[in-house]
Amino acid sequence: MFLLRKSFYLIFVFSFLIITVAKSSTVRVINRVNNSTDEIKTLDNLRGVYVSAKDVSRVLSARTPYINTDRFKMVVYIGNNRIKISGNSSYILVDERVYQMPAYAIWDGDDIFVQAEALFNLIKETTMPGIGYDARRMVLDIDIKEFNITGIEINEKANGTILRIKTRSSFPEGNISSFFHENGWFYITIANALVDTTEIRRSDIRGVVRSIAADQLEQTAQIALQIKTKVDSHELYQAKDPSEIVVSLRTPMDNSVERIKEVKDRWKLDTIVLDAGHGGKDPGTMGPRGTKEKDIALDIAKRIGLLLEKNTKLKVIYTREEDTFIPLWKRTKIANESNGKMFLSIHLNGNPNKSAYGFETYLLRPGKTEDAIEVASRENEAIKYENRTDNRYKDLSGENLIMATMAQSIFMRESEELAAMVQEEMAKKIKSKNRGVKQAGFHVLIGASMPNVLIEAGYLTNRNEEKNLRNSKYRQAIANCIYKAIVKFRYSREQYLAEN
Ligand SMILES: [Zn+2]
Repeated sequence: MFLLRKSFYLIFVFSFLIITVAKSSTVRVINRVNNSTDEIKTLDNLRGVYVSAKDVSRVLSARTPYINTDRFKMVVYIGNNRIKISGNSSYILVDERVYQMPAYAIWDGDDIFVQAEALFNLIKETTMPGIGYDARRMVLDIDIKEFNITGIEINEKANGTILRIKTRSSFPEGNISSFFHENGWFYITIANALVDTTEIRRSDIRGVVRSIAADQLEQTAQIALQIKTKVDSHELYQAKDPSEIVVSLRTPMDNSVERIKEVKDRWKLDTIVLDAGHGGKDPGTMGPRGTKEKDIALDIAKRIGLLLEKNTKLKVIYTREEDTFIPLWKRTKIANESNGKMFLSIHLNGNPNKSAYGFETYLLRPGKTEDAIEVASRENEAIKYENRTDNRYKDLSGENLIMATMAQSIFMRESEELAAMVQEEMAKKIKSKNRGVKQAGFHVLIGASMPNVLIEAGYLTNRNEEKNLRNSKYRQAIANCIYKAIVKFRYSREQYLAEN
């Protein structure tokens, strides 16, 4: 009897305690940004813990919320976003985008209570990636130190400076922008990013960079670099492994009088290097009727050479004149050693899609489209015939390609001009599709110390185009066009040198 009464008493006390705890429970807030703690009022309900929107706003935002008691609405401003919550509704709007909560928000006097876990997840997803809510412990952790931009590495190279911005993952291309301001600063802006500003400011300064700053503006990270000298151009791309944003800043050559004369002499266009793709054991692409790329490419190259020798005083160098195998690296070596002033690599295209047709001209630059990268990787396959054991050919997907591009930066403008002229002349006479000027990483163009392009004169895998390419008149027409482009280019070069 006594025992029974005692346990009865205990049960009474225990249940009283539970009620007390439930009524006074709060979500504990740990703010690691300023090392403070706080509390958010809750309303406990059968459907879980509900938090006071007013308190959430106070804890996560510097702005006071807008409250309309007549319409049971509240707008909370967090980060760059407006979060609209309505009493007796399960819908929450984040910047006009509607999200459904698992339960109705509860209007209580002049405050709204929203299911804690759902609300914090929504805020984390949409506006504040640095928060974390532990539903079991009822703790909200605020930590904007969960950066996705964690540092920067600056490296000086022969013709410029390379910046490597360390990221945790890649960003959509449209999120990254960069520009030079006339005040001498170079700005890189990344949307939806959290930058570790202290780490950035701590970076070692090298190359053309004089000083560095970083700012977090709402959801946008900005890195600013003060630049010492004039920068000719810059290029930006993202690498995956390791994840980083790579920016190359190219610096101009010095412009002393001797230098200019030297450049003029060196740039006098007197030698053209014609590189017929593939050869020997490497047939290149094959047409449905068995036409080999190596044969068509050599034939077109020779036709161009004949036109040049007949009509101009230009010296013509062939990387091959026979059906022989020449490694890719050796082709630019031949070009450089013969003091070539222009390098044209002649190829024919191939594609599993037999309906693809047309002509295009490539520049050595990081590939922008899938099909351009595919063409380059197919052409680069010629390496497999070289049976190499060393790693002469570096992977051309990341910084290696940027470096190779930078090494040729002084020829880039002219390579672009030449490529445009080739396409323009071909478009006038060749009855096929003008696929334009494209860019990708071709091993055969790497190391060429002269303007260089790779011409894909047509698709051998297309039945109709193969038929045309087997016709010597058609090949002569292609050769005529490329010849005209070379002559035009020389004229433009001479004009330029005369004026400068
Ligand atoms: Zn080829």
